[in-house]
Amino acid sequence: MKLLPSPLVCRDAVELVSDYLDGTLSRRDRRRLEKHLAACDACQAYVEQVRATVAASGRVGPEDLPGDVVEGLVNLFRQYRSDN
Ligand SMILES: [Zn+2]
Repeated sequence: MKLLPSPLVCRDAVELVSDYLDGTLSRRDRRRLEKHLAACDACQAYVEQVRATVAASGRVGPEDLPGDVVEGLVNLFRQYRSDN
């Protein structure tokens, strides 16, 4: 597990995204990443792009992600839309 300074900066957040999408991120780091994403449009867009990319490549499809990760993303994007 990586020890990262808090709060996350974008560079740290981006490093966590692949693990986040793989569902291998620790619960603590996942919360920190989600907190960053809730406040950062750029990283939200990045997550969406990476997720679309891995889905298209067939390496990691949404069906391979743990349910709570998918649920977290859905909540995240729902929250993002409601804020705009
Ligand atoms: Zn960011």
